[in-house]
Amino acid sequence: EKTEFITFFHHVIDRFDMNVSENITLQRELPNGQFYVWMDKDKMTQVLDNIISNAIKYSPEGGTIRFNVVKQNNQMLASIEDQGMGIAYEKLNKIFERFYRADKARTRKFGGTGLGLAIAKEMVEAHHGKIWAKSKEGKGTTILFTLPLMNKKRRGKK
Ligand code: ATP
Ligand code: MG
Repeated sequence: EKTEFITFFHHVIDRFDMNVSENITLQRELPNGQFYVWMDKDKMTQVLDNIISNAIKYSPEGGTIRFNVVKQNNQMLASIEDQGMGIAYEKLNKIFERFYRADKARTRKFGGTGLGLAIAKEMVEAHHGKIWAKSKEGKGTTILFTLPLMNKKRRGKK
């Protein structure tokens, strides 16, 4: 269905804000503009839940998670940035594979099956978007994804 993404994103973050520990700050850098996208709300909620729960899981005490959305041509670009331990460059693409977990010894204590980002990728691509990661080891990770914006209605000629 046609959805205004910024409003939708705020609602998802609100839900985490109510549950997240006081030691982690959720910082929104979301524009006031209207970003209309065609989406399955349940599926995109799962995408955001998976990305945000990773960001929380891998955040250090006192860490900040930043949420950003910008317009790029006919796409919107959303990013979720944490200050966690990061991911080695050569592993950055693998984290979207099923059952892949970047560092077995390190992540064992965090639990999980390694499916969260594989599901997110499948769902973003089903919405004709792209998803990828940037990271600096020891500094943090940013997950980015695009979704096509719906065309503005033109006045006049149909
Ligand atoms: P699940 O989501 O199924 O509970 P998971 O979190 O291990 O398990 P994914 O969400 O698919 O699985 O992530 C895959 C791997 O990518 C993780 O095990 C972790 O090593 C790495 N990873 C994902 N997000 C982050 C992040 N924000 N910071 C550091 N590493 C991350
Ligand atoms: Mg996960």
